[in-house]
Amino acid sequence: MHRRAAPSGLTIYKMILTQCAVCATELGLSLGKKCGRCSTRYCGPECQVQHWKEGGHDKLCKLIKKAGGSEQYNANRKYAESVTIAAEACAEDTEGQTCYICTQALHWKTKEGLVRGCSCRGTSGFAHVSCLAEQAKILMGEAEENNLGEKAFIERWARWYTCSLCEQDYHGVVECALGWACWKTYVGRPETDMSRSNAIKQLGIALSSAKKYEDALSVQEAELSMELRLGAREVRILAAQNNLANTYTELGRLAEANRMLRNVYCGRLKLNGEEHQSTLRAALNYASTLSELQRFEETKLLMRTNLPVARRVSGESHELTLSMRANYARALYTDPAATLDDLREAVTTVEDLERTTRRVLGGAHPFMARIEQYLRNARAKLRAREAPPASETAAATAVPDSAVPASPSLADVASQFKEAVSLGNDTPSPRSA
Ligand SMILES: [Zn+2]
Ligand SMILES: [Zn+2]
Ligand SMILES: [Zn+2]
Ligand SMILES: [Zn+2]
Repeated sequence: MHRRAAPSGLTIYKMILTQCAVCATELGLSLGKKCGRCSTRYCGPECQVQHWKEGGHDKLCKLIKKAGGSEQYNANRKYAESVTIAAEACAEDTEGQTCYICTQALHWKTKEGLVRGCSCRGTSGFAHVSCLAEQAKILMGEAEENNLGEKAFIERWARWYTCSLCEQDYHGVVECALGWACWKTYVGRPETDMSRSNAIKQLGIALSSAKKYEDALSVQEAELSMELRLGAREVRILAAQNNLANTYTELGRLAEANRMLRNVYCGRLKLNGEEHQSTLRAALNYASTLSELQRFEETKLLMRTNLPVARRVSGESHELTLSMRANYARALYTDPAATLDDLREAVTTVEDLERTTRRVLGGAHPFMARIEQYLRNARAKLRAREAPPASETAAATAVPDSAVPASPSLADVASQFKEAVSLGNDTPSPRSA
């Protein structure tokens, strides 16, 4: 989101404040001149004076200072906006219900409406974003205060993105509002605070899941440059790069995504070894951009290298193995240089994959639809090659398909694997150590 002037002449900020509040010059995370009271940042004194005299900063400065500085003020506003959006979007579904946390329909303090954005059904799972956020904040606070350890931290952190009733991730506008809630909760802490780092990651993931890719981009770029500047552990930098690269992909910036995912894959290989799940997922993410860039030879080579490992470590019916085979087959038949043998191999592979997927995930699983589409396209290509005169009809029946990214569960094959929040202590796979 780009900064633009609101009708009042005040400023609507982008997601994370990395620009001069007046002229939008990029300041990164630390450059520029700060307002001595509220820490709003400018490229220099001229912009600062202008903001005070004409930009309404003379009136806003106190409010921003009171809120805890410009970044906190911005997070609070974004949070309030996203709660309103979420409650409005859920209004029909939540009509006549009450919050399972505070038992009210309207929130006692904020007067916000109810939301539901998980897999809860019937009368279960209605809540206020504020109540969900308060719950997560309290649980995390206890874990921090009593030093409950990594396992408790990760479990409790999940309340920022997973419903405690149905144990499914929140999605869309609700996930987005909780992402802002999370960031708003921890933004005021020092940059080196682990929860603050995790919160910026959480916000980036939430925005990208809600398909707000431009917004996710500015958050994830800020996250990565912060991790680099703070000299964060390799595993955190790779995770930030992985998520940012996925956002590049969504925005059609394939070459950048590809370069970054190659780096993530190589980094994972060095850090965790070839058998680690994160390495295999990184290989899949990298392969899916190679495929989109029509670099089929490299896609095939990468999948041929990693497939035996995935089979050995995860087994034939694991989602990683299935995804790798699907990507391999697709590269085989999409490659314009495919030989007749390649096309035959592609068809046999997808036929076998279809049987396995049906058995393992069931015919109604969303992954099946993609496999069936691959099968139609692979067969069409093969028919066209075997009987050249029919090629035009065959080509016409082929629907363009896209590569299978490393979805964590294959539940949503369209979304790429995202590196979840961790405490930065990644355990290498035992065999790679
Ligand atoms: Zn400026
Ligand atoms: Zn100020
Ligand atoms: Zn409530
Ligand atoms: Zn639920």
